[in-house]
Amino acid sequence: MAKRPYIVGNWKMHGTRAMLAEARAIDRAAERLPKADVALAPPHTLIHATRLEASLIGVGAQDCHPADGGAHTGDVSAAMLKDAGADFVIVGHSERRADHGESDALIKAKAEAAIAVGLGVIVCVGETEAQRDAGEAEAVVAAQLAGSLPQAEGAADKVTVAYEPVWAIGTGRTPTIADVTAMHRSIRARLEAIYGAGADAVRILYGGSVKPDNAAELLAADEVDGALVGGASLTAESFLGIIVAAAEPRRRFAAPQPLLRMSGKDPSSAHPEEGLSLSKAHLEGLRVPRACRARRARLNATPEPL
Ligand code: PEP
Repeated sequence: MAKRPYIVGNWKMHGTRAMLAEARAIDRAAERLPKADVALAPPHTLIHATRLEASLIGVGAQDCHPADGGAHTGDVSAAMLKDAGADFVIVGHSERRADHGESDALIKAKAEAAIAVGLGVIVCVGETEAQRDAGEAEAVVAAQLAGSLPQAEGAADKVTVAYEPVWAIGTGRTPTIADVTAMHRSIRARLEAIYGAGADAVRILYGGSVKPDNAAELLAADEVDGALVGGASLTAESFLGIIVAAAEPRRRFAAPQPLLRMSGKDPSSAHPEEGLSLSKAHLEGLRVPRACRARRARLNATPEPL
């Protein structure tokens, strides 16, 4: 994992305002783990509130419409998401490809619309189990990349790719490390063919049943620059286990107890040295970058009206 790791939580259709406490706990911990970039993609209804609660991590959306506006009942444009506080949008998630029949061309149009208003994009690709069994996984993913990556000038600077084998999402199953490595190398080669030297800026995330106990191994694989996390991002406790694996890979994940303490319930007691030791002293000993403190102060002082 040579690039700065990027850990993104996709909350899917989960979360009401009660879940903002998780976002706040993730934000507080992430600011003390500065070696990883962390982001959450809550449902549209929580983007603005998450932005206000969690001012240091990235906040993103899970989809957008390709048009600027118009008669599209129930849809949300990229500009609206930006106005609500989003920094990026996920496009082409396999659940949208399957549930809404989204084509590569539509996903590309969404990505280009998002970039046009200044948002980053996470473009998801991944094969089904039948396609992998048929030996077609790399060809399927290469075709998805060719069809759905934005091509506009400077697009590579705004793009992240998430490789998510469909059969690994929410199932508890993951590919072997050898398979993950082979696919990520193949994606890197496709990115170089599409973006040339610009491909170097693109991070490739792995997604599909990433958990605190398998994150370190997956994140250590060649060309894996981070993770897109579904189920395990729904609580600060499990999401932080993954963030720690990215930000402090030599720290072994142990009991979740200190993470509960960190989220504000009992910050007083230190955790034994072995394992994940995010005690209050540990957290307070790490400096929050000045730019982050300034951003938080700005956001807290002048919440943007919707
Ligand atoms: C996802 O939906 O993007 C995902 C990776 O889900 P999970 O981590 O639950 O497999």
